Amino acid sequence: MMRAMKVMKFGGSSVKDAEKFRAVAQIIREHSREQRVLVVLSAMRGVTDVLINAAHEAEAGDTRYKQKVQDIRKRQEEAAAELFTGSAGSSAASQVTSLLNGLIDQLDSILHGVELVRECSPRTLDLVQSFGEILNCHLFAAYLNSSGTPAEMVDARELILTDDSHGSAEVDFPASYDRIRRAIERIAGTPVITGFIAATADGITTTLGRNGSDYTASIVGAGAGADLIEIWTDVDGVYSADPRFVPESFVVPEISYAEAMELSYFGAKVIHPYTMIPAVEKNIPLVIKNTLNPAAPGTRIVQTAEPKSLPVTGIASVGNVALINVEGGGMVGIPGIASRVFGALARARVNIIMISQASSEHSICAVFPESHARDATESLKRELAPELHARKIQEFSLRTDLEIVAVIGGDMRGRPGISGRLFGSLGDAGINVLAIAQGSSEMNISFVVRREDRDRVLNAVHRAFFPDGDPFKK
Ligand code: ADP
Ligand code: ASP
Ligand code: MG
Repeated sequence: MMRAMKVMKFGGSSVKDAEKFRAVAQIIREHSREQRVLVVLSAMRGVTDVLINAAHEAEAGDTRYKQKVQDIRKRQEEAAAELFTGSAGSSAASQVTSLLNGLIDQLDSILHGVELVRECSPRTLDLVQSFGEILNCHLFAAYLNSSGTPAEMVDARELILTDDSHGSAEVDFPASYDRIRRAIERIAGTPVITGFIAATADGITTTLGRNGSDYTASIVGAGAGADLIEIWTDVDGVYSADPRFVPESFVVPEISYAEAMELSYFGAKVIHPYTMIPAVEKNIPLVIKNTLNPAAPGTRIVQTAEPKSLPVTGIASVGNVALINVEGGGMVGIPGIASRVFGALARARVNIIMISQASSEHSICAVFPESHARDATESLKRELAPELHARKIQEFSLRTDLEIVAVIGGDMRGRPGISGRLFGSLGDAGINVLAIAQGSSEMNISFVVRREDRDRVLNAVHRAFFPDGDPFKK
């Protein structure tokens, strides 16, 4: 009989220091007894941010990047010294330390190059970021080996093929699946695969977008034909709202792929939205588990979740967004106005998160990341110059410091009274809502509020839908 196989992905939150490494290795050992385990690993917590900041400093000619490289070196050395003990350990430690130091020297040279040319292209930034995962996987694979679990570091640049959209590359699934299957067949021990990074056909390093190691886990699972993909993090599962902001939130035991996709798209960082794509295609269940509390059952993400008899499944929010409103009496009946507005935004590569249009055709509003605000405004001004000149459209109003909040649930469909309860709770809390949209799938209602109102909104809405606290508590 074929041995069952699963992917276990550990995020930066699970691999912060030597102590966490030990806990993760123990979890892997236990799970490897019953089935084949494929490990996917992120960079150590915070390292990707440090690398990005170092690259920006080098580009600006600010030599503080050198200290950042030294800090990474120190962190790796300290972790290695703590992990490998005893005489056999010390030789393993010096071996891996010299390997890691060689890599850090390379990183230093690349950043020095950036400092000299004063330019860090998206392509170079991807290369710089890749060191986080590469260093960590070398260290962790060496530790697994030294602690009795035969393991092999696997560089995902040899497995996952993408285009050259640096920063958030598009995956070539058939080619990647083929490479993954062959690599997994070849490797005898436990592969420790770098999350987040990939490469083009020419071998140029790319990344899958921030938080992208979850996506790597799912691509690897689909390619290898795994039975299960586990995402191990620092919380007990998918909560009804971000537990950092909503103390009354609780773990939801089972949700559908579609619900997980909506929640993560609207800011539930616990899983990257693209993770669901390969899992859906191959119908592989995903499970969110807690490294700090492995006994907790976690959250299962499956094709069709059991009806929960809850009005909604979860509430999520996305910050740092801006809203632009295109409005004017002269807009009514201008053919193609919506297509021109969205065409202009697309040309400026603005990533629209939410749209709402009044049925009076009097106004269209789009919400996007704050960082796109200038490009969005300029592109719209160019496109609509004749209408602005003729006063058919008013000057655009742009608002920043906003938050999109989304209420999500597969069981919302056809259930009357959800909007009433939602907006009633916001009214009672005295919250001013700037825009509203509802997906026609009736799985999500999203609305825009001021950033400073976020915590009050999340808690008020959570209480409105879950007045009695955790419905799954036994
Ligand atoms: P990792 O480093 O393991 O990938 P992340 O920081 O990317 O971990 O994701 C886990 C974090 O996601 C949690 O610590 C939690 O604060 C946050 N989070 C946001 N929304 C939710 C939610 N609905 N359920 C669970 N966690 C959430
Ligand atoms: N290390 C990468 C990041 O911080 C990928 C990940 O953690 O999933 O974005
Ligand atoms: Mg993450």
